Amino acid sequence: MKNEEIIKRIFKEEVKPRSYYEEKYPERDLKEGARVSRYAPSPTGFIHMGALYASFVSKKIAEDTNGIFYLRIEDTDQKRQVENGIEGIIQDLNNFKIIFDEGVMSGNRESGNYGPYIQSERREIYHSYIKDLLENGKAYVSFATPEELDEIRSLQEKTKDRIGYYGAYATDRNLSEEEVISRLDKGEPFVIRLKSTGDFFKKFTCNDLVKGKVEMPENDIDHVIMKKDGLPTYHFAHIIDDHLMHTTHVVRGDEWFSSLPIHHELWKTLGFKEPKYAHISPLMKEEDGVKRKLSKRKDPEAAVSFYEEEGIPPEAVMLYLMTIANSNFEEFLLQNKGKGIADFTFDFKKMSKSGALFDLEKLNNISRNYLSTLKATDIYEALLTYTEGHDKDFYALIQTYKDDTIAVLNIEREQKKPRKDFYAYSDIKNQIWYMYDELFTPETYEFDKINDKEEIVSMLETYINEYYNEADDEQTWFSRLKDVAEHFGYAREVKEYKNNPENYKGHVGDISMVLRVALTSKAMTPNLYDIVQILGKDRILKRIEILKQK
Ligand code: GLU
Repeated sequence: MKNEEIIKRIFKEEVKPRSYYEEKYPERDLKEGARVSRYAPSPTGFIHMGALYASFVSKKIAEDTNGIFYLRIEDTDQKRQVENGIEGIIQDLNNFKIIFDEGVMSGNRESGNYGPYIQSERREIYHSYIKDLLENGKAYVSFATPEELDEIRSLQEKTKDRIGYYGAYATDRNLSEEEVISRLDKGEPFVIRLKSTGDFFKKFTCNDLVKGKVEMPENDIDHVIMKKDGLPTYHFAHIIDDHLMHTTHVVRGDEWFSSLPIHHELWKTLGFKEPKYAHISPLMKEEDGVKRKLSKRKDPEAAVSFYEEEGIPPEAVMLYLMTIANSNFEEFLLQNKGKGIADFTFDFKKMSKSGALFDLEKLNNISRNYLSTLKATDIYEALLTYTEGHDKDFYALIQTYKDDTIAVLNIEREQKKPRKDFYAYSDIKNQIWYMYDELFTPETYEFDKINDKEEIVSMLETYINEYYNEADDEQTWFSRLKDVAEHFGYAREVKEYKNNPENYKGHVGDISMVLRVALTSKAMTPNLYDIVQILGKDRILKRIEILKQK
């Protein structure tokens, strides 16, 4: 056994052998083909769209096989922590229905047999494997200071050599056991490095599930595996975790792709079976015909909080993410009415290698469609929740007029081609404000063909006094509007008018437009009959008065 005296000095507490952990975390009892995947963020307190996308894909691939999807918190870089960072991430994910089967469930609760799931609580596990590497001469103690490392770097820059602590630059590889012991005894700060056996001039093949076969040079850098503070680096920790937690698929951001050589070497050196990798290309945005990465700084839609602010339902965001993850999903939905994400099987081969285009306009359309499939009562409940946080006045109004609000939301809903007039909860007020007397103070009216105020008022008064009957069904109501048309010299039918335009001032459509604009100020509204029914005679009279006073 190598480095015995050194190990004694480094690990003061008892370190259990690797075999202890290998037994403690046995293979999972899952059906053949079941995938185990994870989302492994650093606890920085919030997530952005790219991270939501990656976690969604990671969850979906596990779900498709009745596998396990778990949350692991990667906090070995203590500088990147924020207070309540874990809670913030879980909250964001849960809002988008990203729920984990296992792992960290809240800041102080975990579930599953493969924990702890927070890296900083796994120190003794990592130490077991680091000790093993030291014993086998596969890792070594390095005292190189930041200044020494800077010097090496400058030298490499000057000589145009590759940057890093490797080969002849990695002089601490050759320290004698005595020297290491004496420097440890003096209390010099140290790290543990991997003693790489790779050859940069040799290639290995990586079979990435998204990128396909990619050749990469072997790693030959003696990467730090344990830092001065005794915690492992990300590179080392995640390999141990993915091994002991039996991850079968590592789905993560593209930015980790270039680290594969060191990960590949660590899997080999530790004697573990390598999982499958899927490196997800960053989300892209097209601006003025140019594609660029969706940016956390520049693009508000890159923040997941944006969707909550706007009141775009999480379900719609998820449908959109599925659409950009697998372009055949849209077609699937068209061919399988009433089906959703859970009925669709994800395929890595259908993922974009160059990065999916994130198009907010398209997302909004998906949201519009999604909202059109909901029941009015469900929309009403969600609208209550939304307005409570974002528009207290409207919140109060829709509570006072609950039944009317539901009736308004129900216009042209639950039918073959439901109405799709709003894309978000924040957009509903823009579409239905005129149905509330408190809000109905129009600045302008969108009258068009008939715009003589006297004629308009006369038509409206004739309608309400002589032809309005609350009990009319839609057909009768419309035939009475035709009566009004005839009364004023307009054709009862559009066709009639078209055949003999010289005989008429216009047709019934012009009359209904007058009524529509008078009651709502808008030229475009959902079904006018429903609006008339919801308003009722008194409120219609009031609106005629408002118009007269204009
Ligand atoms: N902790 C890494 C990050 O926050 C995760 C990388 C991985 O999934 O392996 O980016």
